[in-house]
Amino acid sequence: MAVDRSRIALGRRQPIRPRISGYGFLRTSAPRFAAWHQTLLTLSDAMSDNWLVFIPTDPEALPSRAAADRAVELLKTFVPEAYGEVLAKFAERTVFHCGGGNWSGVICPKCGTDVEGWWMDAMDKAWASEFKNLSVTTPCCRHSTTLNDLNYVWPAGFSRFVLEAMNPNIRQTTAEQDRALSEALGLKLRKIWIHI
Ligand SMILES: [Zn+2]
Repeated sequence: MAVDRSRIALGRRQPIRPRISGYGFLRTSAPRFAAWHQTLLTLSDAMSDNWLVFIPTDPEALPSRAAADRAVELLKTFVPEAYGEVLAKFAERTVFHCGGGNWSGVICPKCGTDVEGWWMDAMDKAWASEFKNLSVTTPCCRHSTTLNDLNYVWPAGFSRFVLEAMNPNIRQTTAEQDRALSEALGLKLRKIWIHI
């Protein structure tokens, strides 16, 4: 679904479709994450959907199309009663994925300081490079790291590839299942539960 992200960035209210096929339009490629997050909270009153999402731990990593197709078929067997689609998606640009309504803040991985206020500005700056440059130095202890390696209290991360199941209708996947998906894709994965 094509979406005018600039409108989301400005925080304008848009007419909401009763059903959406994906949450892609809510993912923050938006330049103003703060505005986007506020929009998300507004939208969350109108609908409720869950996604089980796997992204590579390396933001630039992409599996082969064949590996992605294998992973989709495998994930389908883990969520046999899903009432949404299981898909593999390749994006041209790096996208930030977070838990939506599950968002629980962000912490310096070195010293444990809450850095959410600083992080929003850091996200804006990184967006200027379309998330190609994720390097940051945390304000609390001058720790040199990347936005992808901060300690997101609820898992979050950057990627160009995503394997997802909408409304998977399960509580959790097992560590063994996660490992099997990782092996199918040939990539280390980060798992994110998204609630919108
Ligand atoms: Zn720190």
